[in-house]
Amino acid sequence: MAPSTVPCQYRTGRTLGSGTYAIVKEAIHIKTGKYYACKVINKKLMEGREHMVRNEIAVLKRISSGHANVVTLHDYFETTHNLYLCFDLCTGGELFDRICAKGNYYEADAAGLIRTIFKAVKYIHDAGIVHRDLKPENLLFRSPAEDADIMIADFGLSRVMEEEKLSLLTEICGTPGYMAPEIFKKSHGKPVDVWAMGVITYFLLAGYTPFDRDSQQAEMEAIIAGDYKFEPEEYWANVSETARDFVTMCLTIDPKSRPTAAEALQHKWLADEQPHFVPIE
Ligand code: ADP
Ligand code: MG
Repeated sequence: MAPSTVPCQYRTGRTLGSGTYAIVKEAIHIKTGKYYACKVINKKLMEGREHMVRNEIAVLKRISSGHANVVTLHDYFETTHNLYLCFDLCTGGELFDRICAKGNYYEADAAGLIRTIFKAVKYIHDAGIVHRDLKPENLLFRSPAEDADIMIADFGLSRVMEEEKLSLLTEICGTPGYMAPEIFKKSHGKPVDVWAMGVITYFLLAGYTPFDRDSQQAEMEAIIAGDYKFEPEEYWANVSETARDFVTMCLTIDPKSRPTAAEALQHKWLADEQPHFVPIE
């Protein structure tokens, strides 16, 4: 896809959100009057890696209109300082905010959402892409309706951006000859997305995350040890064994033993379109 030659085809409006690398603004395509979400990335953050970012954008473009639950990249263009990516506008907000508003999800609703998201994850995995940053802030509802489609956003570029950070680290630390291998060992594998889905499922069911600790250090240690519980009991009383088993399976420490997205979709909790449990009123 060639970038648009005329950057002023759009007029940007209010800020929709911001994340690690970008500011996302509402944008109107002047000619058609259509609204988009325009992700503005400062080029300074990707210095020396512009070609990788462009490759990644080409991949995004290639796969992004192929699945109903993956945001479509419609256009991109550049100015001297910024890169602009125009996506479907999702007006229903982040899953994160819906979880916070609800406290937690009924199990049947959670299973429905997780099934939909996992199917989209399988789709991007089959296309050779790892999301690497699946979390409720990157899962957006297409519209404000209660039953709106959920969409996977913010994927593809994180890997390139992380590698940029790593090369910055190398620059700062000087010669890399003495660095331990684990400093370079950045896992890019698909299993990281399945793990994240386990954490998201836990969050949907309980309303809090499994590895939340007082410090980042403690949180990291808990993750490495797979140290989490289905507690406090009052938050888990209405959650079935099948759901807990599903979370446990996704949170398998060894990535090689962790199920793939396709396998996770076969799990009893997701496999039956008709839920086998009855939500407690
Ligand atoms: P980052 O890579 O910086 O995390 P994101 O793509 O996750 O950037 O966007 C940051 C935030 O902007 C999201 O959490 C969301 O609130 C908002 N946002 C992103 N994409 C869209 C979109 N297509 N429609 C509406 N809001 C969006
Ligand atoms: Mg994000």
